[in-house]
Amino acid sequence: MNIHEYQAKDILERFGVPVPKGIVASTPGEAKAAAEELGGTVVVKAQVHAGGRGKAGGVKVVSSADEAEQAAEAMLGTNLVTHQTGPQGVPVRKVMVAEATDIADELYLSIIVDGDAGVPVVIASTEGGMDIEEVAEKTPDRLFRVAGDPLIGLSPYHARDIAALLNVPASARRATAALISNLYRLFVENDCSLVEINPLVVTKDEEVIALDAKINLEDDALFRHKDLAGLHDPEQEDELERRARSADLAYVKLDGGKVGCMVNGAGLAMATMDITKWAGADPANFLDIGGSADQDRIEEAFRIIVSDDEVEIILVNLFAGIARSDVVAQGIVNAAKETGATLPMVVAMRGTNAEEGRNILNESGLDITAAPDLAGAAETLRDKLSGAKGGAR
Ligand code: ADP
Ligand code: MG
Repeated sequence: MNIHEYQAKDILERFGVPVPKGIVASTPGEAKAAAEELGGTVVVKAQVHAGGRGKAGGVKVVSSADEAEQAAEAMLGTNLVTHQTGPQGVPVRKVMVAEATDIADELYLSIIVDGDAGVPVVIASTEGGMDIEEVAEKTPDRLFRVAGDPLIGLSPYHARDIAALLNVPASARRATAALISNLYRLFVENDCSLVEINPLVVTKDEEVIALDAKINLEDDALFRHKDLAGLHDPEQEDELERRARSADLAYVKLDGGKVGCMVNGAGLAMATMDITKWAGADPANFLDIGGSADQDRIEEAFRIIVSDDEVEIILVNLFAGIARSDVVAQGIVNAAKETGATLPMVVAMRGTNAEEGRNILNESGLDITAAPDLAGAAETLRDKLSGAKGGAR
């Protein structure tokens, strides 16, 4: 789960990581009042679940409360499009008005879980700021990686090493090492999957503070953090992903393909994507209905798949163990009739009540081709797609 910058900064403060003073505002008037309270030069920052705001007009430095009001007015109620969002952008409902910091140097500091090593890894670079992606791509040697230990944590000497790698002024070394240790503790205690401070800045007064903050929380651990679960902002999510989440379905949108994949189980989803590729096509998405989906969820799953404009054909690959093929088939037929979806479907069903499921599909009058197995489904998909190229659709 993603959270907003202002929420992330509250957490940073609680863990002793210094951040600029900031006030969140939902209206231009509130932004003006916030700027008055902070005084002097302030920064107005759009609160969205996406980075790249600086380059997209979502971060504005202003020198008066009136200008802060205008900047907020220009941002609030719009959709901000950055290189991390889709073309439609994400809605700006809140801005953060923060004290402007006198920046001497912009650094980069993040912690992620390294899935291969099974440990949290601290990544640090002296080349922080808005071009970090380019640094990572062109000069990856400028990113330092230091692994923590799941049992011991991050040793104090590691934190001091990272502070040294970041080349902060001598007067700020000790505070930077403490900041790094605190950030690591924050990461572990809140079950984060990512904490990213970009930029971490050295001020002209040689203080080190987190100017930006991005925190991702591990969904599967949220039950342990009821207070954090409340930070969820569904408006920032992709509409279809949000619907899938609320129906307890795992839906992932993929770029460029035209095959919508409905499967049960993550492993089967992977196999289904492989055979889609093998058939010469690309998946547009995959939707995992899970083990014990009831009819309502199947119907919603189908509606979500056909709401994706890029889907031209649907591949249903079901291995019914706990799930029942007839329930899935009936759900698909109901939803197809209700939505008026006429997309062709290739369906492979095996396991519990597969025969009944196939009968329901065959008698539905919809454009459904039943395949005996996975390989058969791939071949049918290939035939259908080459037929589609010939102008059948
Ligand atoms: P994003 O990563 O979404 O572009 P940031 O919060 O990193 O947004 O802001 C982009 C840039 O704006 C920063 O690299 C920094 O140069 C400047 N900036 C952000 N917050 C402040 C601040 N409080 N004071 C001064 N400059 C800031
Ligand atoms: Mg940033």
